[in-house]
Amino acid sequence: MIRRILLALVASALPLTAASVASADPNPVTAQDIQAADACYTWNRTLSQGASGSDVTQLQIRVAGWVASGENLALDGQYGPATANAVKRFQAGYGLTADGIAGSQTFNKIYALQDNDCTPIHFSYSEFDDNCGANNFNGGRVSASTAKENIRRIMWQLEALRHKLGDRPMVVTSGFRSVSCNSSVGGSSSSLHMYGQGADLGLSSSPSQCQMWSGARSAGFEEILGPGYPGHNDHVHVGNKSSRFWSAPNC
Ligand SMILES: [Zn+2]
Repeated sequence: MIRRILLALVASALPLTAASVASADPNPVTAQDIQAADACYTWNRTLSQGASGSDVTQLQIRVAGWVASGENLALDGQYGPATANAVKRFQAGYGLTADGIAGSQTFNKIYALQDNDCTPIHFSYSEFDDNCGANNFNGGRVSASTAKENIRRIMWQLEALRHKLGDRPMVVTSGFRSVSCNSSVGGSSSSLHMYGQGADLGLSSSPSQCQMWSGARSAGFEEILGPGYPGHNDHVHVGNKSSRFWSAPNC
């Protein structure tokens, strides 16, 4: 969320000096943007193809749900063609100039879309941490901090999916599960839920199961299970892994 008060103060206190760095971007990141400082994360330069760094990774996390069907965006900190295309789709999806360059218009849209804990506005950790009543990310196959970071990636993919499906609410019925929680609910012994890499979308979601299942294919998910797949008639499971497994015989 943007610190609007700080923005107003800084804008009035600081003249916009030579910080308008040379760039092909019609909406370059300016000193004002940097000083505006989002409470979660602030980009301090315009990013385009050829850029690399942790700020590129932060961008990739937020556009990972804007890939082509079957594509999975690498969070590698390298701004290549795949990242540029994801940025273009993100920009087009929100009515911005789709130039594939992440400048102030793109970052300001991201700032507006994220909460202070860096999760997207329509999803929060509390929706994913039930963990059989434990309300934490402990006891899985990865550390709690890794599980949370994995869940954050899923949330941004879901935010993209939600927007593409008409900004209709989607209800998470299961997110992270400890190893013991996963067995108690009959989850697969290799379930992505134990890694924070899987989430279930329930029937009280506004989009239909098949709409969510179909849309997830263009939101970077490699594991998508829905109606007709054993045990998945009451939810759609989405997950991140390295190999593809999509199944929903009834869609
Ligand atoms: Zn699941």
